[in-house]
Amino acid sequence: MNDLLHCRLMQWPDDQAAYEAAVTENPANAGITTGTRRKRSVFNYSKLWANGRTLKIAFMDSPEAEHKQKIIDAASQWLPYINLSFDFVDDLQGDIRIATRNNDNSSMLGTDALLIHPDWPTMNLGVKPEHEDFEVIVIHEFGHALGAMHEHQHPQANIPWDKPKVYEFYQNREMNPLTREEVDRNLFAPFNTVDAIYTSYDRKSIMHHPVANTLTVGDWQVSINRKISKKDKRLMKLLYPK
Ligand SMILES: [Zn+2]
Repeated sequence: MNDLLHCRLMQWPDDQAAYEAAVTENPANAGITTGTRRKRSVFNYSKLWANGRTLKIAFMDSPEAEHKQKIIDAASQWLPYINLSFDFVDDLQGDIRIATRNNDNSSMLGTDALLIHPDWPTMNLGVKPEHEDFEVIVIHEFGHALGAMHEHQHPQANIPWDKPKVYEFYQNREMNPLTREEVDRNLFAPFNTVDAIYTSYDRKSIMHHPVANTLTVGDWQVSINRKISKKDKRLMKLLYPK
C-alpha cells in the first residue's frame, strides 16, 4: 500500500468561524442544499468558493520551475469542470498557499483556507515530482481545496473496514502515522455535505483513498484511482456551474 496517497484533509476546528468564513465568501454556502430549515439541520453547510472568481494560488517556497509546472498542469485538470480561474503566483500571499518542502500531503477544505494565518500554507504537497503518482496526489489535494470531501467517507460507501486492523496500521506506519481520532475523522466518519445529496458513491473517484484488501473484512478493495472520474466531473460542475 502506498502511504503517500493518504492525505490529511484539514478542516478548521471552530465550526462557527468556518461557517462565517464560508458564507462571507459565498452566501450560497449557507443554504446550498435546499434552503429549507428541515434539510439544513440534516445537511452541513458548504465550503465552496464564490462561483466565477479567480483563485490566487501562491507557491510559498519557490519550487523548481519544472516542479511548479507539474503542479500547475495537474491542478488545471479541474478547470474544464469548474467556473473558477486559477492564478498561480510566486508569492507569499494567495487564497491557496502551497508548501512543497515536507513529507505531508494535505489541504484545507475549500474556504477553510481563509482561516489559516497568512504566513502559513493551506496545502502541503510533499510528494516529489518524480513520484509515479505525483499528478494523482496533486489533483486529489486540489479537489479538497475546491471543497470536495473524501469519497470513501460518502454516506453510501459502506466499506467493510476491519476497524481494529485499520487503527493498528495507521498508528504504526512510519510516515504520517495517524492517531485513532485521526483515523476516525479521515477514514470512517461519513460526511453530510452537499456532495452526499447530489451525487452517489463512486469507488472510481479520484477523491477515494486506495483501500487495501488486508484492511477490510472479506474480499473488498479499491486500487489507486488515477483519473478524475465521471462523477468527479459531475460534482464539480454542480458545485461551480458555468
Ligand atoms: Zn484527501
